[in-house]
Amino acid sequence: MPSLFELTKEQFVEHLVDEPRFRVDQIWHGVWGELDDVQSITTIPKILRARLSEQFPSSLRVVEDVQSDHGTTRKWVFALHDGSTIETVLMGYRDRVTVCVSSQAGCAMGCTFCATGQAGFTRQLSVGEILEQVIFAARAARPRRLTNVVFMGMGEPLANYPVTVGAVRRLHEYLGLSARHLTVSTVGVAPAIERLAREGLAITLALSLHAANDETRNELIPLNRRYPLSRLREACEVWNSTTSRRLSLEWALIDGVNDTDKAVEELADFAYPLHAHVNLIPLNPTPGFLVRGSSSHRVNEFRDALVRAGVNVTVRNTRGRSIDAACGQLANVTNAKRRSLPVRSI
Ligand code: SAH
Ligand code: SF4
Repeated sequence: MPSLFELTKEQFVEHLVDEPRFRVDQIWHGVWGELDDVQSITTIPKILRARLSEQFPSSLRVVEDVQSDHGTTRKWVFALHDGSTIETVLMGYRDRVTVCVSSQAGCAMGCTFCATGQAGFTRQLSVGEILEQVIFAARAARPRRLTNVVFMGMGEPLANYPVTVGAVRRLHEYLGLSARHLTVSTVGVAPAIERLAREGLAITLALSLHAANDETRNELIPLNRRYPLSRLREACEVWNSTTSRRLSLEWALIDGVNDTDKAVEELADFAYPLHAHVNLIPLNPTPGFLVRGSSSHRVNEFRDALVRAGVNVTVRNTRGRSIDAACGQLANVTNAKRRSLPVRSI
């Protein structure tokens, strides 16, 4: 049986067609407005609560719950109904509370530096499975209010396109999150970027660029052979001319690979004409990738060189490394199991 979060409001109304409309609204408000579990919506009769919680069981079972950064970063590993597992990360900052959600169990894109890519693809998530990650995290964040959702967990959101767009719309409509606080991150599925641009959603798009020459990008990101940089640039231009939202470019700095002076130039040539904002992240360690992240000294030099080239840039501080919750580390693999994973190098 699907969870309650699988249903649109119309489907929910339809499901409770025998109940008075005010009752349906009470439940809907309890679930989405108050983040209540159906069992704790005390304004509705006990028998209805019992029926609904039996009909709509939760789709997430907590397998692991770990914290780091003095409790401001929390990661859950969830098992889904078929036993596949996903990860969700909650991050509390001074001015915002962000949840990083998975859009697929695993990922088929095979990026060499990413633990999810190293582990392979299991299946697509449903809209309800994505929304329930957000609700779960929003409940855990209380009394703080969840403000941001980033599709930067496991999986490639644009390879699960209708589900991603459906989840984004409902986060905005049902949970009341501002579209600009919703970020979809993609490895660069060019036609899907163009399609997303035309959805009329004022969301933030993050493109995981990591290299601005095809030779290096082909080695890091197999999808680059299908949609090389020239094709990606076209898609970014469509994004810019169709939406009012500034594009973000993600760049994980890898020692000696994409942190050279030449790389600064190539990145600036790509980013500047697109008015894009660059987010630098020092590469996080993963078991299957032997090359290290750049030193913090080099990260700062790289940032300063971009600033001199007129590019908007920030260095993103890394959260959750000690619990394998940082960017690229989500693979449902404990440290003990890691040693047996195949190792690749570029
Ligand atoms: N599939 C999407 C979203 C999930 S990955 C994408 O690739 O954009 C979220 C971000 O983490 C991406 O920018 C990805 O490139 C980055 N990432 C992956 N592995 C990383 C690593 N080892 N260190 C730092 N960032 C990494
Ligand atoms: Fe998939 Fe993104 Fe990891 Fe690449 S970086 S393997 S697209 S999750």
